[in-house]
Amino acid sequence: MTVKQATGADYIPDAIERKWQQRWAEARVFEAEADPARPKYYVLEMLPYPSGTLHMGHMRNYTIGDVVARYKRMRGFNVLHPMGWDAFGLPAENAAIQHGIEPRTWTLNNIAEFKRVLTRFGFSYDWRREISTCEPEYYRWNQWFFLRMLERNLAYRKRSRVNWCPKCETVLANEQVVEGACWRHEDTPVEQKELEQWFLRITAYAEELLRDIALLRQGWPERVLVMQENWIGRSEGARIDFVVTETGDPCPVFTTRPDTVYGVTFMAIAPEHPLLQKIMRGRPREKEVMDFARAQMMISAAQRTDDATRKEGVFTGFHVTNPYTGEAVPLWVTNYVLMEYGSGAVMAVPAHDQRDFDFAKTYGLSVKVVIQDPARPMDPSSMDSAFVEDGVMVNSGPFNGRPNREVLRDIVRYAKERGFGDFEINYRIRDWLISRQRYWGAPIPIIHCPECGAVPVPEKDLPVLLPDDVDFRAERGNPLERHEAFLRASCPKCGAPARRETDTIAQWLCSCWYFLRFVNPRLRDRPFDKDDVNAWLPVDQYIGGIEHAVLHLLYSRFVVKVLHDAGYVSFVEPFGALFTQGMICKRSEKTGELAKMSKSKGNVVSPDELVREYGADTLRLYTLFIGPPERDAEWSDRGIEGAARFLKRLWARFYERRELIAAAGSGRLDVSKMDPVERELYRQTHQTIADVSRDMEGGFHFNGAIARIMELANAADECDVSRESRPIRLAVYREAMETIVRLLAPFAPHIAEELWTVAGHAPGIIKAGWPEVDRTALERETVEIVVQVNGKVRSRITVPVGLESGDVEKAALADERVKRFLEGLTVRKVIVVPNRLVNIAAS
Ligand SMILES: [Zn+2]
Ligand SMILES: [Zn+2]
Repeated sequence: MTVKQATGADYIPDAIERKWQQRWAEARVFEAEADPARPKYYVLEMLPYPSGTLHMGHMRNYTIGDVVARYKRMRGFNVLHPMGWDAFGLPAENAAIQHGIEPRTWTLNNIAEFKRVLTRFGFSYDWRREISTCEPEYYRWNQWFFLRMLERNLAYRKRSRVNWCPKCETVLANEQVVEGACWRHEDTPVEQKELEQWFLRITAYAEELLRDIALLRQGWPERVLVMQENWIGRSEGARIDFVVTETGDPCPVFTTRPDTVYGVTFMAIAPEHPLLQKIMRGRPREKEVMDFARAQMMISAAQRTDDATRKEGVFTGFHVTNPYTGEAVPLWVTNYVLMEYGSGAVMAVPAHDQRDFDFAKTYGLSVKVVIQDPARPMDPSSMDSAFVEDGVMVNSGPFNGRPNREVLRDIVRYAKERGFGDFEINYRIRDWLISRQRYWGAPIPIIHCPECGAVPVPEKDLPVLLPDDVDFRAERGNPLERHEAFLRASCPKCGAPARRETDTIAQWLCSCWYFLRFVNPRLRDRPFDKDDVNAWLPVDQYIGGIEHAVLHLLYSRFVVKVLHDAGYVSFVEPFGALFTQGMICKRSEKTGELAKMSKSKGNVVSPDELVREYGADTLRLYTLFIGPPERDAEWSDRGIEGAARFLKRLWARFYERRELIAAAGSGRLDVSKMDPVERELYRQTHQTIADVSRDMEGGFHFNGAIARIMELANAADECDVSRESRPIRLAVYREAMETIVRLLAPFAPHIAEELWTVAGHAPGIIKAGWPEVDRTALERETVEIVVQVNGKVRSRITVPVGLESGDVEKAALADERVKRFLEGLTVRKVIVVPNRLVNIAAS
C-alpha cells in the first residue's frame, strides 16, 4: 500500500490541463509557419457550424483531427491545423426571429462558447488563423469569387422550377433535398416554385469531377466516391429525334438503350415539358392534360419517381413518329419522367423496360418484343414482366438476327448518317443553385439596372456589406427586400438609379474554399497567396461527416477545379485523404431508443459538464477507445469510468516510482544483458511501439492503439522493480513507462506532458518525438520445453519465452515425435508448466 505523497500524487485533471494549455499557448507550440526543412502536413476537420448545441459526438470528430495533428508533429512534420466557423446560415436568422436576438450577436456568442469548449479540450489549433465566414473580410472574397465565376460564364441567372422549403422560406439546392423533404426538415416535403435564381455551372465540370475520382481512390472512403459517382450520374447513350406527328414539333429523347428503338410503343414526357404548353393550347384534351401536369409539378422529383409511387399518366391526343420505323405512337404525359433527366422525354419500350411495362399494362398500351431470348422465345400477350436481358434482335429492320449488344453503336450510327440522332453523354447532376432568399448570408454582388440588366458590382466596391439594422419580426421573408438603404444603388455601367440584388449566397459556397483562406487568413488584397496555398495544399487529411458526400465535398472539389483553371492554384483536388467518422449514439433515458445524439432526442451528453468531472484527457481517450472511429459507437457512462481509472492509475504509478524512474539510466539497451523478465518487458515495449505506429499510420485504428498502450501499462505494472533492482532492469522499466507516455501523448496530451516532466525530462513531449522500434527486441527469447507422454520424456520443443499455455500445448501436439507416440491413443488431458514442461495423458 502506498502512502500519498504530499504534493503531486493526486491526479487533478483540471489543474494540469489548464496549466499545459497555457504553456502551449505561451510557447506557441501549434503555430505553423512555412518551413522548407520539414515535410508539411495539413490536417483539417470540417468547419463547424456554431449553433449552440455542442455534444460529445462533435468532440469525437475534433479529437480524431487532433490526434492526427499531434502524432504527425511527433513524427517531425510541419503541421498546419487551423479552426474556424461556418457562421452564416438559417439557424442564426431563425433565432433572431424567435428570440429577437441579432443573428450576428447570436452567432458570435455561439462562436465564443464553442471556442471555450474546444480550447478546454486542448485541441492543438493554430488559433491565429481563426476565421469566421460571416465577417466582411472573409465574405468579400466569396463575392469576389462569385464575380470570377460570372466572368468565366460559370454563374448565371435563370428562371426555373426550383425546390422550396416552406419552413426555411428559401430555395434549396438539389443536394439539400433528401428523399423529397428538406434536409433540415425531414417532415417537410419540398415544394416546387418557379423563380429567378442564380446558379453555378457545376455541370461544366461533371466530366472532370468524375474523372478525377481516380486520384482520390487511395485516400477517400470508397462509399463517398460511389455516392459522388452516382450523383454525377454519367450515362452514355444516344439522342434520337422523334417528331410530333400532327404538328411536326421536335421531341428528341435521350436513351441508353438505342437497341430497343424498334420496340417503342408510346412516348412518355415530363409534366414540365415545354412541348405541352405549346401543343395543347385550344385542344380538346387541354384541361385534362394541363390539370394533371400542374398537379404533378407540385410534387417533388424524388416522390414522383419513388418505386412505391403509382405510375400515372394522361394521353395528350397527339402522337410522335419514330424516325427508324416511320410509325406513329401515342404521346403521354406521365408522373415518372423528369424534366431534369435527358430531354424530359422517354421513348417507352414496355417489352424491355419494367417501368414502361407497368405503365403499358395499367393503360392498355401495346407491347412489342424486339430482343428475343433464343432459348425461350417470348410472346407479348403472355409476358408478365419486361425482358431486360440480352438477346437477339427481332422486329428491328436491318438489325434483325444480331446480338443486341453488338448493334448498340451501329444503330446510333444509322441515325447519325440519316440525320435523326447521334451519340450523346448525359449527366444526372444539375447546376448548383446558390441564391437564398434569406438575410444571414453574403449578399450576391449584383445590381439590377432597368437599362443594363444584371450588372456585377465592380471589384473595388467589394464587399457589399450586409446591413446590421434590419427588423426581423415585422414581417416574414427576406428583410433585405424592405431595407431601402441597402436596395438603393446606382448602375455601375450607366449610373442610372438601380436596385441591389437581395438574394444572398448559400453558406455552402462560403465553406467551399475556407481551407485556402486558412493559409493566409489576414491577407487584405487577395483571398489567398498563390505560392503559399500551393505549398500547403492539398489538405493531407480531411475529417468530417459522410452526410457531406455530395454537398460540401463535391462543391469544394468543383471550386478548386475552377480556381485551378483560372490559374489561382496549381492543384486540382482540395483533399488528398478523407476520413468520415461515425457518430456517437446514446440510449434515451426516456424511451430506451438508441439514437445519434441530438437535442430533440434528449440524449445529448454535454462536453462541458463531463470535462469538469473527468478532464479533457479522459474524454479524449474514451471517445476514441469506444470503438473504431469510422463506425457509430454507443456512449456508456461506465466506459468513461474505465478510461478515467486507467489514467489515474498511470499517474499513481509514476508518482510512486518517480524516483526509481528518474534515477534509472536511459539510452540504448543491450538485449543480450537482460534476464528473461527484462527481456520480455523490453520486447513488449517495442512490440507496442510497432503496433501503435501501424495503427496510427494505417486507417485510424485508434481504439486498437489505445488498447495496446493499456496492455503495456499492465505489463509494466507487473514488473518487479525496487531500489535494489539491477540497473538494467530499472532502465528497461523506465523505457516502458516513458514509451507509454509518449504513445499516449496524441490521445491524452496533458497528462502525457506532465508525466514526461515527472520522469525528469524538460517540457515538450512533441519535441521528444515518436519512439523508435528496436527491431532486435521483437524476437522473443526461446526456451526448450520437455514434452512427456504419460510421464515419460518423449521429445523436446523450442518455443518463445512466455508463450501462452494453449499455444505451448498446440506446439507439443504438433511435434512429429510426440505424434508418433500418440498414434492410436486418445489424448485425455494436457498439463503445461510454463517455460518448462508439457505432460500429455493419453490412453
Ligand atoms: Zn427546411
Ligand atoms: Zn445601367
